[in-house]
Amino acid sequence: MNLKNLTPIREGSPTCKICEGVGFLLEENVKNSSSGVLVLCSCIGDSCRTCESKGRAPFMVYDDSQNRMMPCVCHNARIELDRVEFLTRKAAIPPRYKYRTLDRMDTTELSFLIAHDWADEIVKKWNELGKSAQGLYLWGGTGSGKTLLACAILNELILRYGLECKYAKINRDFLSTIRDSYQKESELHGMEQTIKKQFTDVEVLVLDDFGANKESDWANSQLYDLIDARYEEEKVTILTSNISLADWKDKAEGRIFSRLMEMTKEIHLDCPDYRLSHSVHGVE
Ligand SMILES: [Zn+2]
Ligand SMILES: [Zn+2]
Repeated sequence: MNLKNLTPIREGSPTCKICEGVGFLLEENVKNSSSGVLVLCSCIGDSCRTCESKGRAPFMVYDDSQNRMMPCVCHNARIELDRVEFLTRKAAIPPRYKYRTLDRMDTTELSFLIAHDWADEIVKKWNELGKSAQGLYLWGGTGSGKTLLACAILNELILRYGLECKYAKINRDFLSTIRDSYQKESELHGMEQTIKKQFTDVEVLVLDDFGANKESDWANSQLYDLIDARYEEEKVTILTSNISLADWKDKAEGRIFSRLMEMTKEIHLDCPDYRLSHSVHGVE
């Protein structure tokens, strides 16, 4: 898949019909990979003979005429490709949603279309809105496509702007890791502040399954502190949940509710099981 409309990167040949100048592509239908992989385009790869076999930075070749190491023709394209891969890996986007973008989604369902439009707005207007961009509170039943949309926003922000993003399941990746940091035998022991700082500092954060379980007072106060810290730092947060925003009114004295009201746009994904009708893509 050509990434020309999804990234400003232009390290390929400007006349290349395959990548249209980007320098790399998203190769889909890859064995053992639901997401596909990024590959160097042939307009670059074909002229790279020397450093190709190693495929590792710094992508330099020895130039006889100048008697020194010079960047290979593939250098810049590979650096950019590596950066997109690195940011995607760092964001911990689940494999099935990796590299999924907003441009090829079925938006026939009205509530999904509305959510999709808001997602599109965040992505396309990031440079204008930046810190003032409103986050999203996407809620709906299993298979409504909320996680897919949330991850697609991250994928596009990485491709378009090279932003640092993070995907986290609220229980598994946040609450449980903080609990682990209290355990002497855990490798996370004593790391509570470091974990919290990672969650606060990242530019765009997806919190998946927010409020999926009946939370304890301790958990709710952790959630509030996280939301509040991101509010103070003016960071964009995208939440998915199976409960409405109003359901937070009677939790944590309504503090989570009022913060989220300020920080996010609430959208109810009222779709029939999106996953069933889109089972090839495995949507959740
Ligand atoms: Zn090309
Ligand atoms: Zn090369």
